[in-house]
Amino acid sequence: MDFKNKVVIITGASSGIGRGAAEYLSSLGASVVLTGRSENGLKETASKCTTEFLIVIADVTKQEDRVKIIDETIKKFGKINVLVNNAGQGLMKETMKATMEEYDFIMDLNVRSVFNLTQLAIPHLIETQGNIVNVSSVTGLHPFPGFTVYCMSKAALDQFTRCLALELAPKNVRVNAINPATIVTNFLQAQGLSDQLAKEYQTKGASLHALGRLGTILETSHAIAFLASDMS
Ligand code: NDP
Repeated sequence: MDFKNKVVIITGASSGIGRGAAEYLSSLGASVVLTGRSENGLKETASKCTTEFLIVIADVTKQEDRVKIIDETIKKFGKINVLVNNAGQGLMKETMKATMEEYDFIMDLNVRSVFNLTQLAIPHLIETQGNIVNVSSVTGLHPFPGFTVYCMSKAALDQFTRCLALELAPKNVRVNAINPATIVTNFLQAQGLSDQLAKEYQTKGASLHALGRLGTILETSHAIAFLASDMS
């Protein structure tokens, strides 16, 4: 896979799956646009990239920040070849325990912001005949008790991916998603679990996976890169 002369925007590049994808795509020659709220996290990712990069500190739930991501990318690189919609958060709460504020927060971050950032990127992706990779989740495909709102958000993201793939296919812009099961990242801690609880959850979770182990960031990076590549 060759990403030379390709400009790839990765949201949530300051940690976990997004950081891994940025590092891997850079190793394949891509110029990477690293976005997220944590400047330190983005700088750490940038230090692992071997190609040209741009850091855009942005909260994807804010309209002006979404516009900033696209504008700064075009200003520096003049084009967008790939958009990786990765930023997201989970919510480990049963339906009766989730508040409406939590519902709005998850839907805003995992669905609404993806929808709008994608809208802003589409004209540029049509120009380059580029593509989109959404980082969804196994929870978009299968029900999990205690994760209702998160499952709903990723199911919405999956249906967005499918509808948009059909809308943009005539324009030769591909739209795909990956649906990982548990990957060891900061995902559980970001939603308030202690390191110890996260470890317990992951240890228990490993035995529920068919291979008897959790997924790795390298595996998601490979899948994202394949879908984003001209080989896909
Ligand atoms: P991490 O918590 O390690 O990473 C989440 C990333 O999202 C961070 O870079 C964070 O950056 C960014 N982010 C969160 N909120 C915002 C925001 N408002 N604006 C901009 N960026 C934001 O978790 P993962 O790497 O695991 O998660 C990445 C994606 O993978 C998510 O969409 C998640 O749902 C999905 N996923 C994860 C799985 C797992 O088991 N880990 C399994 C399946 C899917 P910052 O804090 O700097 O803003």
